[in-house]
Amino acid sequence: MLPFFPSPYPDELFFSVCSRFHVRSCNDKTETTCLQLLGCKTSRLYDFPRGLHVLGKRLPEETLNTVQQLVYGTTMFPLYKPFISSTIARMLYDYMVVDQVGCHAPTIHNVLVVNKISLRCCPACFYADLDLYGEAYWHRSHQVYGVRTCHKHREWLRQTHVIGVELSPLTENMLRQAISLQDDKPVHHLHRIAASVHWLLNHNDVMGSNILSTRCRLLRVLKNTCSFLGGIVYRSLEWDIRRFYGEAISEMIFRMERIESFLEDLVTNCHMKHHPLYHILLINFLGLSCGEIITNART
Ligand SMILES: [Zn+2]
Repeated sequence: MLPFFPSPYPDELFFSVCSRFHVRSCNDKTETTCLQLLGCKTSRLYDFPRGLHVLGKRLPEETLNTVQQLVYGTTMFPLYKPFISSTIARMLYDYMVVDQVGCHAPTIHNVLVVNKISLRCCPACFYADLDLYGEAYWHRSHQVYGVRTCHKHREWLRQTHVIGVELSPLTENMLRQAISLQDDKPVHHLHRIAASVHWLLNHNDVMGSNILSTRCRLLRVLKNTCSFLGGIVYRSLEWDIRRFYGEAISEMIFRMERIESFLEDLVTNCHMKHHPLYHILLINFLGLSCGEIITNART
């Protein structure tokens, strides 16, 4: 049984919670803390940590945390959940929570596209958290690929040298040394991406939704919006989306794969596996919000 375990702050990354535990435990190595918390020396603490079943058994009796709350409140799971099949979602959940060796990692890794980035922070969040909680922390919503501004303060995020492997709480020194992500990309699109990611990560009440309902709703809207969708012309739609976002954003995001493939999968493959960012960009392109698509998809 652990002597204590920090309660996560709002939108706090699991890596951040573990970092606060690490420092308060006076452990000198990340491996020591990982073993103590998760029963293994390494884990993807910055997005999909393994070994939460071990942590669940070791949490102090008086804790208000449960493993499920940690999954929904501190990992990237809620971001992916509405856009993957229930089978893949279960595998992903089990990957983190169930004591099952070799839990379908290859399939899961197909879904987890380029999430490993240097951790980012927002200067305004830093000082607001310091005021409110007495310490700053890593926000989960700032760490998603494609997010470059703060959903709350609309400031450009700063990229630190911390890559999410060695446990490190966010400090003022890291903030000072961090590099601003400010550039000439159209900032209104980036704000919408940041707001969508934050909404998805922090609305657990819509997590009953999955790719089937989301996809059906998206297809209905697409067919009403695009006159040529009788026989869908993916290439034409891809160019419309690229024009809408401009070359700078398109290059940043669509270099992962062609959006044409994503659109084709959306129509023909109900088990599609694409980064949530593709869905977010399509939803925003259609002039909708994730709330409208996912909430309506449940009805
Ligand atoms: Zn902020």
